Amino acid sequence: MAVADRIEESLSRSSWIRKMFEEGARRKALYGADKVFDFSLGNPNLEPPARFREEIRKLMDDPRPGRHGYMPNAGYLETRQAVADHVNSYTKDALDADHVVMTVGAGGGLNVVFRTLLNPGDEVVILKPYFVEYDFYLDNHRGRPVHVPTREDFSLDLDAVAGAVCDRTKAVLINYPNNPTGRVCTSGELEKLSAMLADRSSRLGRPIYLISDEPYRKIVFDGVQVPSVIDAYPDSLVVTSFSKDLSVPGERIGYVAVGPRMVGKDKVVAGLVFANRILGFVNAPALMQRAIPSLLNETVDVGAYRRKRDMLCEGLSSCGYEFVVPKGTFYLFPRTPVADDVAFVQVLQEENILVVPGSGFGGPGHMRIAFCVDDRVIENALPGFERAIRKV
Ligand code: PLP
Repeated sequence: MAVADRIEESLSRSSWIRKMFEEGARRKALYGADKVFDFSLGNPNLEPPARFREEIRKLMDDPRPGRHGYMPNAGYLETRQAVADHVNSYTKDALDADHVVMTVGAGGGLNVVFRTLLNPGDEVVILKPYFVEYDFYLDNHRGRPVHVPTREDFSLDLDAVAGAVCDRTKAVLINYPNNPTGRVCTSGELEKLSAMLADRSSRLGRPIYLISDEPYRKIVFDGVQVPSVIDAYPDSLVVTSFSKDLSVPGERIGYVAVGPRMVGKDKVVAGLVFANRILGFVNAPALMQRAIPSLLNETVDVGAYRRKRDMLCEGLSSCGYEFVVPKGTFYLFPRTPVADDVAFVQVLQEENILVVPGSGFGGPGHMRIAFCVDDRVIENALPGFERAIRKV
């Protein structure tokens, strides 16, 4: 066997998203790119804000020496302070630079957090449907995912979460706005979850951490606000990135913010910084860290995603698809008109429409449509969506 058993096993589970992406490439070669409607990838189609390019240009022209060297593993102090100030703009708790570790995207941040917190066999409760990389990240650090279903409308089922929490639980991981459903939790839901976790932590005599993965925090619609876990729960960590709100996923820049009221937070932060180093990230990219302080209030045109959402929702609803309207992200997670989501995704493929089966996110009977695509792709795909629902 050429590779380790765990990698062999992970490869065979492979990612539905990747499969769809490959199928898209095959179909584009066969039928022409404009005849294939690829909704499989969450790769933002909007360009970064103009300010991003200006800032990078300015930084590249900076003649000062030593701008590309190693740095503290947590990241530049000025960047961490700017990020802390930014987080303070939507939390009541006051963070400073020492509560922030700059990371290689949210994916890097999650790996750093899991490496810091988990002993082998420790459990992390994850709400279904979910971003499937979580399972692989946990496996990297010998953690065990415990998948807990949400309700029909993807709202939090507190009893189910409480039922899954036990003495092996190290953390609960939430993701709002959610990939793949677009749901945003309410402050009421978060308060109830926090109260339950506080109670269970005190019974266990140690904290159960609340990890909030929030790379879509700024991509919300209809005036919705994403409540702050740092305010709701002392033992919380925010993991996020600029991948989606600045449309720069290839630049790999994000951060972890630790709740200032966390018990033993200095040790946790020291662990995060050490994990950043030994996982081989060493530090988040220097150029991006220098750019971030002046970009913290910049965001891609969220209105453009809202218009795409509306166009897609109106089109799909008028031909009979059922779904919960997403309040954030650029994903729609409709029910498939037949229970077998993989089979229906194949029917859509016959129309050259590529979406990902909900099974790939622990949400069978659904499909994920990533609408971070050109408006024309949505417009031109709608007749195919209609033919597909009529066929089954
Ligand atoms: N978490 C969620 C829910 C995501 O959807 C993604 C990317 O799609 C990530 C984390 C990883 O983000 P990044 O590319 O910043 O590592």
